[in-house]
Amino acid sequence: MPMKAAVLPVTPFQQNCTIFWNDETMRGGVSDPGGDIERILEVVGREGITLEKILLTHGHLDHASAAGDLAKQLGIPIEGPHEDDLFLIETLPEQSAKYGFPPVGAFVPDRWLVDGDRVEVAGLTFDVRHCPGHTPGHVVFFNDEARLAIVGDVLFQGSIGRTDLPRGNYQQLIDSITNRLWPLGDDVTFVPGHGPVSTFGQERATNPFVADENFA
Ligand SMILES: [Zn+2]
Ligand SMILES: [Zn+2]
Repeated sequence: MPMKAAVLPVTPFQQNCTIFWNDETMRGGVSDPGGDIERILEVVGREGITLEKILLTHGHLDHASAAGDLAKQLGIPIEGPHEDDLFLIETLPEQSAKYGFPPVGAFVPDRWLVDGDRVEVAGLTFDVRHCPGHTPGHVVFFNDEARLAIVGDVLFQGSIGRTDLPRGNYQQLIDSITNRLWPLGDDVTFVPGHGPVSTFGQERATNPFVADENFA
């Protein structure tokens, strides 16, 4: 079941929205539609994809704010993040106004996720890893077949997510990365919430925050 993916930076925060689809059926989903719905739908239309689900890694503005409106427009469900991010999702409309984002509709995800859950989109399966630290309810989506992980603001090429925002926790974030992401394999390619893609192996070798040598 071949998966294809396209990464589209959205919002003034250049957040990596990922559109992924099953190459055989041209059905798929979108993770972290933080804004710019028209641009997301333009890519979807150009590729000829039918979206059937929205996935959220966490409740921050630039990742989640357009999810409710997109879900309503397309009549599709939202899955994720973990319920511990409810406090962020509840305040998205006021956060959007505060940061000058276009007005967004309030929503509650159709399904909260916990570690070990599986999410199914268009015949593609994602394993869910709960990775708190950047936010308490942050989750990561892993497609074993494509060896691809969508990690939001947990890990970046050469860096890690901020932990100075409400309910962030530095040690928890380090533990999430080393205990819940590294076991997936060095060969795994990950799409971070911002910036270029990388692999877990490259970060274990070179990332100043989480390289193996830090823990030797
Ligand atoms: Zn974030
Ligand atoms: Zn972000």
